[in-house]
Amino acid sequence: MQYSSKRNPCPVCGRNKDSDCRWNDEVMFCHCGSSFAPPQHLKVGETLIVNGMEWALVKTDAGHSGRAFVFKPHRQLENTFNYSPHIYKEQKTKKDELFRIAIQAFEDFLKVSKAALDAGNFQECTLEELRKAKKLIERAVEEGKELKTVMLQMQRNDRRYSDYLELIDQRNKEINYLKKNADSFCWEHLGEIE
Ligand SMILES: [Zn+2]
Repeated sequence: MQYSSKRNPCPVCGRNKDSDCRWNDEVMFCHCGSSFAPPQHLKVGETLIVNGMEWALVKTDAGHSGRAFVFKPHRQLENTFNYSPHIYKEQKTKKDELFRIAIQAFEDFLKVSKAALDAGNFQECTLEELRKAKKLIERAVEEGKELKTVMLQMQRNDRRYSDYLELIDQRNKEINYLKKNADSFCWEHLGEIE
């Protein structure tokens, strides 16, 4: 086994200040330190070219310190990690599909809430129109709540939702304000209506 040193830097991260990385022809332990570390974007199953050879990352949080990346020579045939680009692509496709559906729901919500906001002039409404407007407002409030819950969950592994969440919050505020107005208008002028 070789150890990293001033004379013999780690082939993965270039560590030369101490002996925290070690390797031979079969395996490499590259230590994740503050000044030297293997490429952190690398995921298990992905490969790296070191000294003209392809090595696959097989483990993280390993070695004596529990803070090393472990690499083994990449073997085309027996290495099941070959499939990871596939899986990655599949997950990405799923993520994009979810995103597409969420944005569709978002656009529907914008339409419903816009219609509710436009129906906000209660003074000129007939009772029938008022009833409709109240229904619309309630639907918008519900949809806004639901959409926000779903998007908050999605946002955990997809940052694209942040901007939409902001817009939803804004619209929810307007709708809740409108609902308050509608409720007090009905109460003052009509008593409770169904
Ligand atoms: Zn190293």
